[in-house]
Amino acid sequence: MTSPQYRQVPAQVDLPALEHAVLDFWREQKIFTKSLEQSEGRPEWVFYEGPPTANGMPGAHHIEARVFKDVFPRFRTMQGYHVGRKAGWDCHGLPVELAVEKELGFNGKKDIEAYGIAEFNAKCRESVTRHTDAFAELTTRMGYWVDLDDAYRTMDPEYVESVWWSLKEIFNKGLLVQDHRVAPWCPRCGTGLSDHELAQGYETVVDPSVFVRFPLTSGPLAGEAALLIWTTTPWTLISNTAVGAHPDVTYAVATNGEEKLVVAQALVEKALGEGWEPTGQTFTGREMERWTYERPFAFLDFPAEAHYVVNADYVTTEDGTGLVHQSPAFGADDLLVCKAYGLPVVNPVRPDGTFEEDLPLVGGVFFKKADEALTEDLKDRGLLFRHVPYEHSYPHCWRCHTALLYYAQPSWYIRTTAVKERLLEENEKTN
Ligand SMILES: [Zn+2]
Repeated sequence: MTSPQYRQVPAQVDLPALEHAVLDFWREQKIFTKSLEQSEGRPEWVFYEGPPTANGMPGAHHIEARVFKDVFPRFRTMQGYHVGRKAGWDCHGLPVELAVEKELGFNGKKDIEAYGIAEFNAKCRESVTRHTDAFAELTTRMGYWVDLDDAYRTMDPEYVESVWWSLKEIFNKGLLVQDHRVAPWCPRCGTGLSDHELAQGYETVVDPSVFVRFPLTSGPLAGEAALLIWTTTPWTLISNTAVGAHPDVTYAVATNGEEKLVVAQALVEKALGEGWEPTGQTFTGREMERWTYERPFAFLDFPAEAHYVVNADYVTTEDGTGLVHQSPAFGADDLLVCKAYGLPVVNPVRPDGTFEEDLPLVGGVFFKKADEALTEDLKDRGLLFRHVPYEHSYPHCWRCHTALLYYAQPSWYIRTTAVKERLLEENEKTN
């Protein structure tokens, strides 16, 4: 039995041919345009495409996103809405810059400045629309209805203005604030990374794990014992500012008959190894607060009193020595603790990841490459207790695979937490 409305389906169906027939029909009859004309005057359901970056060829992942972008407008149209659908192109940001840098054989900001910022921007502008044709073809072929002829571009002045306008509104509401925070920083790209980006770039590396003596200069053990600290980033010892001890942890003095070292009681055996015995003398972290010590490298000027024991609740006795070297410019926990004591934030590493030129031993050296010379120097001065290679996962830039710095940088933040409840309320209204 055949119905007059439907053509008979042959036993062997050529699906691509079928799709082309439908697409041809849509194109010839201008079905998308007609569907918009037909629904003119009905309640609006607005759709602006979250724009793809067209400086690369479209891939399978674009198809998935575009299916979703198509399904909802179609569904709303069927529910009786007028759904204008505006396509867009994302023209800004590091993906674009990075692709152009690669093309020009550049290696960071300096190369861009030498080439000329205006010239570089022109190249970027040219690059962002390079593959819009391929995107248009994919869009049409997969049957995604969107107005590509009147697309918005994030590099158009009108769009940029609207972003500045939003930022100004946020500023007027007092939600735009500048703050120093330790955040992951890529010294090659010259930019901070979000937590989300950070999660994408962990790589297993071998770093030096060093145990270092910090001779005490005040308190009951002054001149006769040293604090022992553990770190896998010897390059941060240059900016050592304090030593963190947990106020409630008991620290023990131990000796090998020749010298005395202070570590957490629970870690005497693990940290010091054979031949070391507790002397019986113990102190709580609270009792040790403000004991001063001799810093490992005296290269930097500190604008305020520093280099003493501070109390820090985050210190554990799980590994290391229970005494934690503090370098507030390079650790979020360190920064919090040191801020509470009014300690200065001293940072000898420049944004490109190299040490300031005038420093002994490491001037101009990339931070990750400074470990060896510093460890060697500690050894020569009798401050190195132990040095072993340590395999661990360390965050690297997902874009360029450079080892990241945890770096205190002044940055602008939007205080979204201040309007969190309101945001959640508004979300409740959305389905
Ligand atoms: Zn990078």
